[in-house]
Amino acid sequence: MDTDMQRRLAGLLHHRSAGLEKGDPISLPLTTSTSYHLPDVQGAAFVYGRNGTPTWEAVEAQLALLEDAECLSFPSGMAAIAASLFATLKTGDRVIIPSDGYYVTRVLSEGFLTPLGVDVVQIPTLDYATADFTGAAVVYLETPSNPGLDVVDIADVVVRAHAAGAVVIVDNTTMTPLLQRPLDLGADLVVAADTKAPAGHSDALFGHVAGRDPARMARVRDWRRMSGATPGAMEAWLVHRGLETLEVRLERMCASAGVIAARLAEHPMVLKLRYPGLPDDPSFAPSQRQMAGFGFLIGMTLKDATVAEGFLERCPYLVRSTSFGGTHSAGERRARWGDAVPEGFVRLSIGVEPTEALWEAMDAALR
Ligand SMILES: *Cc1c(COP(=O)(O)O)cnc(C)c1O
Repeated sequence: MDTDMQRRLAGLLHHRSAGLEKGDPISLPLTTSTSYHLPDVQGAAFVYGRNGTPTWEAVEAQLALLEDAECLSFPSGMAAIAASLFATLKTGDRVIIPSDGYYVTRVLSEGFLTPLGVDVVQIPTLDYATADFTGAAVVYLETPSNPGLDVVDIADVVVRAHAAGAVVIVDNTTMTPLLQRPLDLGADLVVAADTKAPAGHSDALFGHVAGRDPARMARVRDWRRMSGATPGAMEAWLVHRGLETLEVRLERMCASAGVIAARLAEHPMVLKLRYPGLPDDPSFAPSQRQMAGFGFLIGMTLKDATVAEGFLERCPYLVRSTSFGGTHSAGERRARWGDAVPEGFVRLSIGVEPTEALWEAMDAALR
């Protein structure tokens, strides 16, 4: 990690200090007020809860340090994704989205953008490397793809998309700004579900949009205020707490994932293993170029659905849930949602358990 990022992470932990008066609380107060003292309307920092609150502002200050960009918070990852698309697209535009990415983005696009006259084109993540973006208004990508973990070169996509006149939006949920920095690679907007690793404790839905073009961000801010897609105070407060430990959690999660992925790849019960950090993985080379770590998600294929479910049932340290990025390791058979993966494919999200205890339990459950 470079010294600039180190300083920004330290700043994240102390970002409120400069504004403290003697006797103020050190930890962030949870402000639930929807209205603010307004004897007149000029010069008030806060006006009404749908426009902005001190609690969101504190989270956005942390996120801005991480992204090195203006950030707007949203009540979920999907609210952030919807804001980025609705603030950018208009009737007659074409948007390219991944056919193998987060499925709700596809459902949202087909169900709500298509009927408004937006041409929604779906292509697999790996095809972004060669696709012709002529005629696209927005190129929206997700890398590594979820759950397949295919990786495409962001800087290369950006150059070709910009040449075609398109705006580039990257869903950076699986990596977080600590592991991958799409804005530094030229992307126009980043969207992310902070529900996952940033909040980190599986108890808050949250999302954000980040960008460096003030006019584009102003439009996203207007969308939030007018659509009313505003985060709750409690969730903002929880995410603020979660972000303080994101870096240390990710360090354990990624280190454990690397160790466990290498062992799973050699395991007699495992038919196929995907982890971007394994040298013979198809995603290894592009990941090494553009990611600061290989993440905490592993794609593991077992013999069939029964073997996969049996493994998940027997392993005491894997919660059987559909999300990822939490403190608890989690596993899920993705075919149950209709993802285009084998029946025995399990997506693993490695948590912060001590590595060897987790491995011992997984190995025993596999055998
Ligand atoms: C979870 C997720 C989302 C949606 O986030 P929510 O907070 O559940 O709305 C979007 N993109 C990706 C890649 C995700 O994993």
